[in-house]
Amino acid sequence: MSFSLYVHIPWCHSKCPYCDFNSHAASSWPEAQYTRALISELKDRAGTPPYSGQRIRTIFFGGGTPSLFDPKSIGEIIDAANRACGIEPDAEISLEANPGTVDLAKLGGMRAAGVNRISFGAQSFNAATLKFLGRIHCADETRAAAGMAHRAGFDRLNLDLIFAVPGQTVADVLFDIESVAALEPDHISAYNLTFEEGTAFFTDLKHGRIKQLATDEQAAMYQTVREEIPRRGYAMYEISNYAAPGHEARHNLTYWRAQTYLGIGAGAHSYAGDGRGGQRKRWWNEKLPARYISAIEERKNAETGAETIDEAGAQSEFVFLNLRLREGFAISDFHARFGRNFESIFGIVATPLFNNGLLTLDRGRIKLTDRGLEMADSVFAEFV
Ligand code: SF4
Repeated sequence: MSFSLYVHIPWCHSKCPYCDFNSHAASSWPEAQYTRALISELKDRAGTPPYSGQRIRTIFFGGGTPSLFDPKSIGEIIDAANRACGIEPDAEISLEANPGTVDLAKLGGMRAAGVNRISFGAQSFNAATLKFLGRIHCADETRAAAGMAHRAGFDRLNLDLIFAVPGQTVADVLFDIESVAALEPDHISAYNLTFEEGTAFFTDLKHGRIKQLATDEQAAMYQTVREEIPRRGYAMYEISNYAAPGHEARHNLTYWRAQTYLGIGAGAHSYAGDGRGGQRKRWWNEKLPARYISAIEERKNAETGAETIDEAGAQSEFVFLNLRLREGFAISDFHARFGRNFESIFGIVATPLFNNGLLTLDRGRIKLTDRGLEMADSVFAEFV
């Protein structure tokens, strides 16, 4: 048995207006103190169920902007994880980076510290779109950052794109796809822009200062993304994710397969319980970095909320998370996890979805059809 480790670094140079992550704009941050707190939390959790005795198969440094941290701090966390749990020899260790915050020395340092996959928030290659999104970098910085990542020894490189940005056209989306593929990453994520409550964009939308693209324009862009990225050698394996063969993001597969992970850091969430029976639980930490640090220093633990997931809740989550994957899930895996037939629990819900061409059964696996993909949120809602 093994688990995935998420490490949250909560600071950014500035707050992007669409961002609803737990990220805080700052020009300085208590890096040494926060790193100590992360290591203390990790050591404490490593000795308790379900993590004790399990090794780590993936680590993901997310944020925020983890590339603001010194490679030395990142290396200390990786070393501590190895000492506390043991990291599998072929583990995937990813770090999110902002193209405006790296140089060759920093990327080389991250690689030497043990990071083997880097993920840049490219978002777009169009200056107007980047400005609208409030990004601090320009397209040339993304191009330079991708080149430096290759030179620093990263053969695993993800680039994120955002589409359906007000003002964007399908031709702009195609330009972004061509630009991103030209940098030869092994993985591309392409997200439809959403307007989440609590963000500056949500307020702007409410007050009519910005306007969302029409639904059919957004659908046309998603279709362009779904067709054009695979044409360049990246298979779609999840609603928003594309990879060269064998280069899927293993860390994110943990989430979509509803498997156990540990999240450490301010606001991080954890999930325990992918085995059959036993208690399934989710918990989360103090969101504010200062409160997180003091909680860890005082009691080694910054948990601020938790929920137990009952059998029915776990079955729903298993279905709608796995349906995000193009391969869907094997009916036999559902049975292995819950000891019940999928049909006996979800037959009434699933039958109309099959009849309406939104779900399909293919060699023992249930998955979304192309039409189901376009209406994914409505399909998922049926299982909640
Ligand atoms: S850089 Fe990323 S995490 Fe930071 S504010 Fe922008 S979108 Fe959010």
